[in-house]
Amino acid sequence: MPIENIFSGNPLDRCEIERRDENWIKIRSEDPSSKFLLILGSKVIVRDVGEIELLWFGIDDIQELDLEYHSVLLGMSNDVTHFVIDMPEVSEKSFPFEKFDGSVLLDARDVALELCSTDSGILAQSLAQLNWHRRNGFCSVCGQRTIVKRGGQKRECSACFIEHFPRVDPVIIMVISDGENCLVGQSKGRLASTNRYSALAGFMDQGETIEEAVSREIMEEAGIKVKNVRYYSSQPWPFPSTLMIGCHAEADTTEINMDSEEMTDVKWVDRKEVLLALDGKSETLNLPGPVAIAHNLLKSWATKNFD
Ligand SMILES: [Zn+2]
Repeated sequence: MPIENIFSGNPLDRCEIERRDENWIKIRSEDPSSKFLLILGSKVIVRDVGEIELLWFGIDDIQELDLEYHSVLLGMSNDVTHFVIDMPEVSEKSFPFEKFDGSVLLDARDVALELCSTDSGILAQSLAQLNWHRRNGFCSVCGQRTIVKRGGQKRECSACFIEHFPRVDPVIIMVISDGENCLVGQSKGRLASTNRYSALAGFMDQGETIEEAVSREIMEEAGIKVKNVRYYSSQPWPFPSTLMIGCHAEADTTEINMDSEEMTDVKWVDRKEVLLALDGKSETLNLPGPVAIAHNLLKSWATKNFD
């Protein structure tokens, strides 16, 4: 059975060859068949007419809106070129929503679950791309301005000409099992304020494998040794641009020795409790909803549906 994490399923051909030709990008960006998605911060304009879908604008709409904008080439589908536009901060109040049937500006985290998987995948690419461009206007080597190339696939320094490529930050997230129970934790900060628990997670360090990162994080946060780390599935998480790498592993020890600097609680919970919590029916355990890979990862353990 395919694993469908939200934000995966982008169908676009990213035009690796075509985008090397700046003239081709210019022609496509002015083509009446091309489509444009509008994003403001972490919000996106969608069409809500019962079902919610990404709202694609034509070049005539874009020119009429007269936005000060930068467009980034996403890719092609059925010979239609798709772009995303980073809307200026001021445009939310002045945007003529009444001209576009059902148009509404919604937060990407809230809307992602409502979209079909292809739309949520395109949204992930769009957000991650714009987040990267917003933060990389200047060269990290010499400090001078960088210039967009290949429709947004890279930026080049205007002074030292070094190339900068969009980055993805890998995060490992893992369910550790002792057979009948699995380990969940609550980190300090946002999770604690909502009393939510989740699978333990952390950024990968440089110079380590996925398996080593899983072992290190679990030892750091819970003081537990793990073995038999296995990859399960992954999820793009465009806030700003991480790749969640979901894994299962077995506990080699079970006594918890929590890192109280990072965590407010770490505990073992049994299958029954996890299943109840995933259904939102537990009175004692609050777990992430299906927008997060943590939900699918915990569910696969609780239903023994992995390997
Ligand atoms: Zn430079």
